[in-house]
Amino acid sequence: MFEPTGSQRDAASTIFNLSDYRVINALDVPGHARRVEVESTSPPGCPACGVISVRVHSRRRQRIRDVPVAGALEVVWCKRRWFCDEWRCGRGTFAESTLQVPTRARSTVRLRAQLVAAVIDSGRAVSETARAHGVSWWLVQTAVTTAALLLPAVGAVAVKHLGVDEHRYRSVRFYRTQTGAWARYEPWMSTIVDVTTGQVLGIVDGRGSAGVGAWLAARPAAWLAQVEVVAIDPSAAFRKALRTHLPFAAVSVDTFHLVKLGNDAMTAVRQRLVREQKGRRGRLVDPAWANRRLLLRGADTLSPGGWARLEKVFRHDDPTDELGAAWGIKEQLRRLLKTSSLADAHEAKMLLGHYIQVADMPETDRLWNTICVWWPEIEVLIVTGVTNARTEAANTTIKNIKRTGRGFRNADNYRARILLTSAAKRAA
Ligand SMILES: [Zn+2]
Repeated sequence: MFEPTGSQRDAASTIFNLSDYRVINALDVPGHARRVEVESTSPPGCPACGVISVRVHSRRRQRIRDVPVAGALEVVWCKRRWFCDEWRCGRGTFAESTLQVPTRARSTVRLRAQLVAAVIDSGRAVSETARAHGVSWWLVQTAVTTAALLLPAVGAVAVKHLGVDEHRYRSVRFYRTQTGAWARYEPWMSTIVDVTTGQVLGIVDGRGSAGVGAWLAARPAAWLAQVEVVAIDPSAAFRKALRTHLPFAAVSVDTFHLVKLGNDAMTAVRQRLVREQKGRRGRLVDPAWANRRLLLRGADTLSPGGWARLEKVFRHDDPTDELGAAWGIKEQLRRLLKTSSLADAHEAKMLLGHYIQVADMPETDRLWNTICVWWPEIEVLIVTGVTNARTEAANTTIKNIKRTGRGFRNADNYRARILLTSAAKRAA
């Protein structure tokens, strides 16, 4: 019984709408379930010689997973094995396969596409997607991992500005070593991003030089040669990896992290002062504590009311003037980072050094040392303006993925999600 295909499909096949298949039977089975039996429409070609086969060898029934059609459905494929009648072909018989259900597949391509779309485009958790589609967690995760493997190779992306940043993908764990002592495990990952487009190029384990170094070592020389600037956090490990594998690229250090170093010095001074002067930690009654966030704000973003409160803090809660000095140093660092020429930057650095010398505090001395150690990278930042902002944005996305998944135990699954989400965002 052959029916014409195409626009002449029967009603059930049109409703079911799985290409290359026709519905041959549909029935209710006990327990409010429905079963649909399908058969492939196009006569298959032999996988060895390509000659179209006409003689059926045998039939067997195979359950395949498919998208829900008006609710969950049990799909059975009445799968045929065919003879190859080409006498020069060594292949005796072969099982049929289709574009929707390739050889050895147990689920349709359209189901996998829907699962990946639910997880990546709609940002749903793998477990929730699995429940909604009535399939196993493994099937969803495998579909996501397979899709990630099909992403365009990094080598095909021309990258001029690279960003490297670290993030922790789960909370710190403690475990017992063989000697019985407790050891600390910090699950870190480093993200490598094209900072021009924001595309995540790679994710490597750890935050040392080894992971990033190995990733860079795996890239061809021509790909590495096109990288002009790399933006990193002030991390000596990343710098080491870059000096080894990308010796000709300029390294820029990220503004955000430098501003944070200034803010950290400011906070350390504030905490030391309250300990020295009051012998306790800061409280709401201390103006410096009550305005601790205001102290970290950039001066250029302060409202008149903010200025007034800040002046009150320095008048009433800063007998040694050290808090004011730390604030001035932090502001001078911000001004330095906003300069647009090397001459201006050097001038701003001289002034910063002068402020720090006069202030004579251990916290700001440490800040000065860091600035001096990273000065070549700061110069690159000022000249090129390449920052890690896109990498930070990628990390925010990554953290959202982690929240949706309520944490990840398997770093590979996590990696696949990150790469796919980044690619999907770029495509959109
Ligand atoms: Zn053949």
